[in-house]
Amino acid sequence: MMEREEEKEVVGVSVLHGGMIITMDEEQRVYRDGGIVVEHDKIKAIGQSADILAEFSDVADSIVDLSGHILLPGFINTHVHSSQQMARGIADDVDLMTWLHERIWPYESNMSEQDSYLSTLLCGIELIHSGVTCFAEAGGQHVSGMARAVGLLGLRACLTQSTMDSGHGLPPSWATRTTHQCIQSQKDNYHKYHNTAQGRIRIWFAIRQIMNSTPRLLIQTRDAATQLNTGIHMHVAEIPHENQLVMDVHKIDHGTVTYLDR
Ligand SMILES: [Zn+2]
Repeated sequence: MMEREEEKEVVGVSVLHGGMIITMDEEQRVYRDGGIVVEHDKIKAIGQSADILAEFSDVADSIVDLSGHILLPGFINTHVHSSQQMARGIADDVDLMTWLHERIWPYESNMSEQDSYLSTLLCGIELIHSGVTCFAEAGGQHVSGMARAVGLLGLRACLTQSTMDSGHGLPPSWATRTTHQCIQSQKDNYHKYHNTAQGRIRIWFAIRQIMNSTPRLLIQTRDAATQLNTGIHMHVAEIPHENQLVMDVHKIDHGTVTYLDR
């Protein structure tokens, strides 16, 4: 409903001029004094300010002076923990394992669906403020809540559910999850939310980290993502301890990357 109301306010033809435009197109064109014409939600023309103003001023519903501004395509943030937006300050200045086991996982495992929604909403507002138009979630809690927020925010997102099926440090509510449940719940999320929000939401699979994954989870995640033609988001080789553990447990010469490559 809100999106419809917002759509009504979109001006038909907007002319923006006088700014530096970095197109990032195939020719890497940059206009130091550039103009751009936007019709509804599509870019219709781009060029030198003088040319754009001469050709489109008469048909413009709004003309915006961008002097002193730089215009460029939206950024893509490739690693975001939208769940942790509301956790700022609870885990400063501690090593990774303390951070995960004693601070972040107890916090994340107690999040409600509404918490996921609100946290993603706040996170998304900050992303938009930073010029981000698309983000990859590194492993959040309630995908339904995240999807609701992304729908409202207007961002594009590859959403994932934090997934672990073994290992140390898991809060009680996570420790009982079987490999099958981990895979099935992500497949369910895929079928419910993939390509929703006018196609802005993609559902990927997630592996939180190798220290909390059975080999079975790794293989089944790969197979499920391949079958559904979607992506996987995983933390890899975050700290030396992780690589050493992988070398010791799996009897290989190098760390996580080498192990996954096998
Ligand atoms: Zn991360």
